[in-house]
Amino acid sequence: SIMPATLSAISSSAKNGVLFKGGVHVENLSHIKAVAFDKTGTLTNGKPVVTEAFYKEKDNQNQTLKIVAAIEKYSTHPLAQSIVQFTKEKGLDELASEVLDMTTISGNGISAVVDGDHWKIGKADFVGKEDAMSFLHGVANNLANEGKTIVFAKKNNEITAVFALKDTIRKDAKNAIALLKKHGITTVMLTGDNELTAKIIAKEAGIDSYIANCLPEEKVTHVKQLREKYKNVSMVGDGINDAPALASANVGIAMGEGTDVAMETADVVLMKNDLTKITEAMAISTKMNKII
Ligand code: ADP
Ligand code: MG
Repeated sequence: SIMPATLSAISSSAKNGVLFKGGVHVENLSHIKAVAFDKTGTLTNGKPVVTEAFYKEKDNQNQTLKIVAAIEKYSTHPLAQSIVQFTKEKGLDELASEVLDMTTISGNGISAVVDGDHWKIGKADFVGKEDAMSFLHGVANNLANEGKTIVFAKKNNEITAVFALKDTIRKDAKNAIALLKKHGITTVMLTGDNELTAKIIAKEAGIDSYIANCLPEEKVTHVKQLREKYKNVSMVGDGINDAPALASANVGIAMGEGTDVAMETADVVLMKNDLTKITEAMAISTKMNKII
């Protein structure tokens, strides 16, 4: 049976936009010593915008973009959706050819076959780091320095296009991190994005440390390592990719705007996507524990 103090904590949190899925999570939240955050969609708004596009050839740019967008249509990744949107805004007509063999590689990108050509769209490691870097040095070396995420498109053995996308930090992120720090709680960012972008976003958010190029299964490893060090660890995330890490934390926290999978896996849901509610919920849990 649930204690009245617990029930009251759950209901006052719910009114405050924080949904606890059970009394045990209220208790656990008061013991948290470190919080790991996903980047895209959690610390950032998760709605990146294409700021630049570079192509290998002057001709055929529209055709390249049409193919890239037609492939990305099959991905639910925020970056993919932004590239589709960017293409729509150019008013290009639909690709006539069929997209075949679409394969999503979690934390990397997507591949497909169009008109017999093999396409790979995603991060540098996924398309081949050396090719990606030499293409980038040729066109725009400083993109990642601006905190932008870079998406490469490779056709057969050649990089044909690169897209730079800029996401914005959530307005409450900096304040939320500062509040956690004030309570002596360590903050870490775990992201699949590249080192430079990770560094810039972590700095903007004021987060203690970050781990870049983090594959979804590596997020789990890092949460477990944090548990060894800090014992009671929370993970905050929004994506399908984050679900295993949410499950491996003492308290998994999902963004209310996040994917269903993240919300189903989490112990706590931030219904209004306001990260500052984490410390408020912690205060409510601590108060409840004192009563009990
Ligand atoms: P994050 O932790 O930032 O949410 P992910 O783990 O989902 O990132 O993906 C890591 C990286 O893989 C992205 O930053 C991007 O470079 C690349 N990527 C993944 N899926 C796609 C896709 N559909 N299109 C383009 N790039 C992708
Ligand atoms: Mg995310």
